[in-house]
Amino acid sequence: MSAFDEPPIRYELRERTPYGAPQLDAPVRLNTNENPYPVPDEVTEAMEKALRAALRDLNRYPDRDAVALREDLAAYLAGAADAPSLTAAQVWAANGSNEIQQQLLQVFGGHGRTAMGFTPTYSMYPIQAVSTGTGWIEGWRDKTFDLNPSGAAAQVRVYEPDLVFLCSPNNPTGNALDLDVVEAVAAECAGMVIVDEAYAEFARPGTRSAVTLLSKYPRLVVTRTMSKAFGFAGGRVGYMAANPQVIDAVQLVRLPYHLSTLTQAAARDALAHAPALLAQVEAIKEQRDRIVAGLRELNLTVTDSDANFVLFGGFAEGDQAVAWQKLLDLGVLVRDVGLPGWLRVTAGTEEETSYFLDAVKEVVTGEVLGKQGDSGES
Ligand code: PMP
Repeated sequence: MSAFDEPPIRYELRERTPYGAPQLDAPVRLNTNENPYPVPDEVTEAMEKALRAALRDLNRYPDRDAVALREDLAAYLAGAADAPSLTAAQVWAANGSNEIQQQLLQVFGGHGRTAMGFTPTYSMYPIQAVSTGTGWIEGWRDKTFDLNPSGAAAQVRVYEPDLVFLCSPNNPTGNALDLDVVEAVAAECAGMVIVDEAYAEFARPGTRSAVTLLSKYPRLVVTRTMSKAFGFAGGRVGYMAANPQVIDAVQLVRLPYHLSTLTQAAARDALAHAPALLAQVEAIKEQRDRIVAGLRELNLTVTDSDANFVLFGGFAEGDQAVAWQKLLDLGVLVRDVGLPGWLRVTAGTEEETSYFLDAVKEVVTGEVLGKQGDSGES
């Protein structure tokens, strides 16, 4: 077979590398914000039954509208977000919240339109913007990675984006947004406002979901996922809640039968066992808080987290890459999110967290690294 000198890739995609954390086989993997607990036996057994029944129907296409799953998601979300009841007409599901966000960009973005996020934030937004031909506008946060209502609204006023992504709790910084920020942006923005609540279940008490604002702002969308708190990352199910007209609009771009029969069956079973799957959320939050405290004891800079991960820094610029490698050498895989001086770690089991804290102590106190404010030699 003859090879291309250069395949005729779209101009804006050239020179790019595919997104993704390294999938390295480290003994302690704390780099992709997964739930560290395997699916409990009672749930795998129930899922096996549901999947076996679904196998018979694989000669047929799945329910294209995934209605039963959307009903289940609506019921879960209304309860979890402490929101008024939702119906399937207000909920849409896809293969991960990434696919939902891509669909939103396909419908409401595209050539001649722009999307905006507040950096540092989830790095897939600009990638998805480029892949859908949408211009990307990089807004900013303050030094503590906070976003306040007037600052966020002012940036939206200046750039007039067609879509705004508000990630809450924000990846990679971990902090949740006050709903005042969402309201200020929703009031200012003439386009769609997407609040990405992938980590909502891990938020600290008192954090309110933007789902409670849906009836007030027709252009507001809240995306969620089963990949994190539910421990269903391999199942690939994300969803959104929005005005029914938004859900209808997304039908224009969704692929027919995008969500397989097996995915729908397994996800419905997972939702039926929500309490069992979510049982470890409190344990994960405990480990997250332990990480925050442990890293502060080492005099690292740590942002408070409402998620299942923690951003920590204080390394001299560039030294985070050295620390990342040292941790890996010690058997712990964390994430270098591309923020000079910072690394991100996912809260694991108690054992994994202890292992990580010991390893990071060794790296930081082992004179491997200088810290910011030191002589700078590192
Ligand atoms: N949003 C945020 C903020 C995330 O961190 C992730 C996954 N890392 C996603 C969305 C996408 O998750 P999924 O496609 O598995 O639902």
